[in-house]
Amino acid sequence: LTLVDLVHPDDLPALERVNRKAAAGSRPVGEVRVRSADGSYRWVEITKQPAEVPAGGLLGESDVASTHSGIGSWRDIHAERQAKTELKFMATHDAMTNLVNRRELLRLMTEAMATQPRRAGGVVVLFIDLDELKTINDSLGHAAGDKVIQATANRISTTVRGDDIVARIGGDEFVVVLRQVHSIAPAQRVSSAIHTKMREAIMVDNTQVRATVSIGIAEARPGQNLEDLLQQADSALYRAKGAGRGRTEVFT
Ligand code: GH3
Ligand code: MG
Repeated sequence: LTLVDLVHPDDLPALERVNRKAAAGSRPVGEVRVRSADGSYRWVEITKQPAEVPAGGLLGESDVASTHSGIGSWRDIHAERQAKTELKFMATHDAMTNLVNRRELLRLMTEAMATQPRRAGGVVVLFIDLDELKTINDSLGHAAGDKVIQATANRISTTVRGDDIVARIGGDEFVVVLRQVHSIAPAQRVSSAIHTKMREAIMVDNTQVRATVSIGIAEARPGQNLEDLLQQADSALYRAKGAGRGRTEVFT
């Protein structure tokens, strides 16, 4: 059995890179997943250096090298990688709902608005705010309000597609971003689906709580900046609140 047999198929190119660099005379370091005895994969860091080849044969045709000579070593970095992944998740997500946080939303939107070719379609934003959450907090308690926020987050997430962005950007404010769309029609479909889901009562400690949301929609114009777009969605939301809540308005 050599390392090649144990490395995760997706990480074989990384292993190959290490081997190639070592063969070229450098001392590469790479990270790959290796299958352990119980069948699960663990991250290891592999380091390799070219072996001195003494007269008469190859030295150190080690595990790391199946096709190239060299001396390799590996170090278990699984816990380290997991901690890093966890830290990154915490820095980019909201702990109450696990949705993307405001900072990550801005980063993802900047990316989406900068890299999309025009023909791929544009970005449409839905700004969503729970109606009268203060009343729910005041009558049922802050913990009940939290449950309503979580249930709403859940309903929004399960309404959109996997590649859409869903963020919680404030107390009871959410933003959904649809990418690569050619009109606001998909956003209107998403918003009516959210209103429909919100009609179902939220169970909080055996009490049925009813909550609605107001939604503002804005479509990015080519070259429009991010703050401007969010501001437009927010102003459409403001109109939805003014028009009686539990409804959607589109920025015009
Ligand atoms: P509106 O219909 O105008 O949106 O009324 P609202 O009561 O929802 O008020 P608004 O959106 O302006 O303010 C949000 C309120 O939600 C303020 C605060 O009392 C409550 N809130 C904000 N964050 C949290 C939270 O994390 N948990 C709970 N339970 N309540 C929160
Ligand atoms: Mg609100």
